[in-house]
Amino acid sequence: MELVMKTMITSPYYRAVGKEIEVFEQVFENKLPLLLKGPTGTGKSRFIEFMAYQFDTKLITVSCHEETSSTDLIGRFIIKGAETIWLDGPLTTAVKNGYILYLDEVAEARPDVVVAIHSLTDHRRELYIDKLGESIKAHDNFRLVASFNPGYQRGFKELKPSTRQRFVAISFQYPEPELEQEILIQESGVDLSMAKKLVMLGNKVRNLSELGLAETVSTRLLVDAAKLIHSGLAIRLAVKVAVMEPLSDEKQILDALYNLTDLIM
Ligand code: ADP
Repeated sequence: MELVMKTMITSPYYRAVGKEIEVFEQVFENKLPLLLKGPTGTGKSRFIEFMAYQFDTKLITVSCHEETSSTDLIGRFIIKGAETIWLDGPLTTAVKNGYILYLDEVAEARPDVVVAIHSLTDHRRELYIDKLGESIKAHDNFRLVASFNPGYQRGFKELKPSTRQRFVAISFQYPEPELEQEILIQESGVDLSMAKKLVMLGNKVRNLSELGLAETVSTRLLVDAAKLIHSGLAIRLAVKVAVMEPLSDEKQILDALYNLTDLIM
């Protein structure tokens, strides 16, 4: 399980694309659990890092995958020398200390994870630790945020409606061209004309539904390409390795994507 604990010293850069900051502020005040929906690379993690900084609170991010279990989140007994000691998991740590816990890609995790967070997502705001046989009340500042990629899990790993209804949800999409250009410039240092070309290329690929890509060009991929270009890699090569290669392994599709690159860049 990948786990990151962050205390930001300077504000992360986040460009609002809609009303998400206002919504977060009210959700936070009302201690409601929040679900960030949307494809990968649309700024969900950056947004939550930014909001954690704004609210001056620590953020623990857990990247969920199919092996992530409630034990991973709540904690476990470990053997230390001759003793058995209890070790809090990230959820318990956040609940006790009043941090934001961000469960990235929560639908990927094992079903017992959703069961474990239930009592934290309603008025009870408490965590039941079955291995200790005790319930703990969440710290006033504890907040639960999860992310979910509706397209990616198509068909198999959905979030149950009863789980979804426990969260306030904000939808993330690819930003409008002007905003996405601004993000590329800010994140990489490329100039406006290069940012415009990259965004145009991104949007062209996004509209090519006939390619049948599982995931399309995210802002993250465009930022990566922009960074490589800004640091001196040849433009088409940068686009090839940062945007096209990550999207597909099929020669025909890649050829179509390279043709498009030649036209635009
Ligand atoms: P997600 O969590 O949705 O997969 P990330 O938050 O990791 O996506 O975003 C990927 C990258 O895209 C970020 O590192 C950042 O460079 C860029 N990015 C996307 N959207 C924004 C935004 N609105 N403001 C600033 N950076 C953004």
